[in-house]
Amino acid sequence: MSASSVSIKNLRKQYGDLEVLRGINLEIPAGQTVAVIGPSGSGKSTLLRVLMTLDRPTSGDIEIDGVPMWLDAHGRPAGPNSAHVRQVRGKIGMVFQHFNLFPHMTALGNAMEAPMRVLGMSRAQARERAAEYLEMVGLGDKLDVYPAQLSGGQKQRVGIARALAMCPSIMLFDEVTSALDPELVGGILQILRDLSARRSMTMIIVTHQMKFAERSSDRTLFFDEGNIVEDAESSVLFSQPQEARTRQFLDCVI
Ligand code: ADP
Ligand code: MG
Repeated sequence: MSASSVSIKNLRKQYGDLEVLRGINLEIPAGQTVAVIGPSGSGKSTLLRVLMTLDRPTSGDIEIDGVPMWLDAHGRPAGPNSAHVRQVRGKIGMVFQHFNLFPHMTALGNAMEAPMRVLGMSRAQARERAAEYLEMVGLGDKLDVYPAQLSGGQKQRVGIARALAMCPSIMLFDEVTSALDPELVGGILQILRDLSARRSMTMIIVTHQMKFAERSSDRTLFFDEGNIVEDAESSVLFSQPQEARTRQFLDCVI
């Protein structure tokens, strides 16, 4: 599958009185790697959840390859379990901070589940594909191991392999190194770097790893209070931040 473009148009998300996303506009060309940084509570995870169709926008919309997420082919509103939304969702993979693995399934079982259930693959086909991606993330010798027997870094590798096994054209990573011991972080970031270098997927990476964002993404967004405060080429955003709020944030975290 080739990478997809993402177009976000005046996206708002409200929980009760709390406006978490306040009119996001963003165009991401196919194959770009975008880092998202910003303070806790600024709406970064909400943006990814809405992109993943796990949450519906209050207003505005998202287009994937020019196709609106929440309008069907006839221009009518589509439900979260409609064929239309499921088809869009099929292009997107997500990896979470806390892994969200199925505890009763082995590494292989975790990575086989969605290809069988969602894509209707045979067990043999799904097994072959899952094993291939688990090998790619360095877990070729852990196929039959359960999550409880894996380190945090290994669990996160399973999370990444599981998402890749669906061949997404967009991958979303929500603080995937934040729950890891420091010595395990580097290995996961290297996998993200390798994936990004292939340009076969569009990647959006929410991260607290500033050096990683600076060196390994094409573009960085600084998010604050539900808005994109600054959006620039990564090398530029970190060396010459234009907004006072960005400078203040970077001074505190680096
Ligand atoms: P970040 O990932 O940048 O730390 P989040 O997107 O998780 O921020 O959260 C932004 C704000 O939205 C926070 O104030 C959070 O408490 C609130 N929020 C997130 N999800 C929900 C929800 N399902 N219901 C109510 N409030 C939520
Ligand atoms: Mg978050």
